[in-house]
Amino acid sequence: SKTPILSPQVSKQDLNADYPDIYPDIVHDGKPTVNLVVIGHVDAGKSTLMGHLLFLLGYIDPKVMHAYERDCKAIGKDSFQYAWVLDGTTEERQRGVTIDVACKEFSTENREVVLLDAPGHKDFVPNMISGAAQADAAILVIDSCQGAFESGFEGENHHGQTKEHSFLARSLGVSNLIVGVNKLDMMNWDQGRFLEIQNRLNPFLRTVGFRDNSVTYIPISGLGGVNLTSKPEIPELASWYNGPCLIELIDSLPPSQKDAKKPARLCIMDSYKLSHGTLLGQIVSGKIESGTISINDKIVIIPTGIKGRVKAIEKAGHSATKAYAGENVDVVLKDAEGDFGLVLPGHVLCSELYPVPQVKNFKIKAVTFDILFPVTREQNLIMHIQSLKIPVKVKRILQQIDPINGKVIKERPRCLTKFMSAILEIESSRRVCLEKFSNCKGLGRVTLRDHSETVMAGMVIELLE
Ligand code: GDP
Repeated sequence: SKTPILSPQVSKQDLNADYPDIYPDIVHDGKPTVNLVVIGHVDAGKSTLMGHLLFLLGYIDPKVMHAYERDCKAIGKDSFQYAWVLDGTTEERQRGVTIDVACKEFSTENREVVLLDAPGHKDFVPNMISGAAQADAAILVIDSCQGAFESGFEGENHHGQTKEHSFLARSLGVSNLIVGVNKLDMMNWDQGRFLEIQNRLNPFLRTVGFRDNSVTYIPISGLGGVNLTSKPEIPELASWYNGPCLIELIDSLPPSQKDAKKPARLCIMDSYKLSHGTLLGQIVSGKIESGTISINDKIVIIPTGIKGRVKAIEKAGHSATKAYAGENVDVVLKDAEGDFGLVLPGHVLCSELYPVPQVKNFKIKAVTFDILFPVTREQNLIMHIQSLKIPVKVKRILQQIDPINGKVIKERPRCLTKFMSAILEIESSRRVCLEKFSNCKGLGRVTLRDHSETVMAGMVIELLE
């Protein structure tokens, strides 16, 4: 596992070729990272679940937890204390309490977990989108109470967020799903109810494109803290559930191994020079979206064309010899010539033999949101990719497709209204570093917005020119 084996037959010009796996199987020197998003209908118990989980894992000071509990009782909101751990948006602000929302990362025995966009906000869908657009896996929280599951599942549009969220998550490339059948304490831990929900949900998840072996169902109580970090002791549940607890499921989520074998792409967030300390020299920092970066690798920064070699790598405060897709790193460069003043956030550090493509025109497969005005040809939008915002235009609406089975519903529709799936051709106002989603998730997912509203989100399926 030394130098990557680069296959010479892949031409740089062939924009849409699938990248070969150029790095050997990963032998991690640390824990692989999993980016996780929590989705589900409003009030399903997302915040409570994650807050309680972080508390049980020891990330929240018991004294602070105690204070939340007391404050919740005082304003007649018993049971909201765990939600407050994550929800730094509403009550806290009114009450002037500042909260450490920094605990968005936690580690399990074998995983470093990054919790994307902590839920709890009422206006959840836009947040969920940006979270899901970076996620490897999702926890779908279901309220199992009689009637609650049904309305979260069957309700139209925003009333049925169970469907909407899982559909969007899958559309944005999330393939692994843990379904937390929550509040089962309210149903006396009835196995029949658990199976009923599983049997109703599974056919839907299958049609949306989740594979059976990538979906796991687990009975939980976020509020009671049951089956989160240890096997359930409640006899009614223990009598029929013998599977892993939630943290064990999270611990076994597959990290993005596939992307770690593709050509290296580090999306640059910062670039600076240090003349003292342990990291001496020219440094670029950011998140590795695909591939592996090792000391001595030859790299190129696109679009500046600056070439160099990797002198040192630092991740999570430690120096390392390798870093993998999903990790945030500082990379120290050597033998690099060029004006680093030109290196900007949004630029991409790549394997020298496989520089990232730059295009102006490309096709996406996207879903529209709860939009008021239809999307039409020639419409100007702002594309968000990574940390970049770029003006773009809808050049053509090629097809409206069935969101469930992908079949063409209409060729060249004149416009798209809310909650539609479509293939579109996009023209960017300038060249932008992009990848087909199948080659690099992080550089192949885009969100299209108009003012502050999300209009569409989707994946890049073809690079044109
Ligand atoms: P969110 O909107 O999905 O983030 O939901 P919250 O976490 O704010 O929870 C909504 C309500 O459900 C709150 O009153 C919680 O106390 C309650 N709740 C959450 N989880 C459970 C649970 O496991 N059992 C019971 N009985 N109530 C729960």
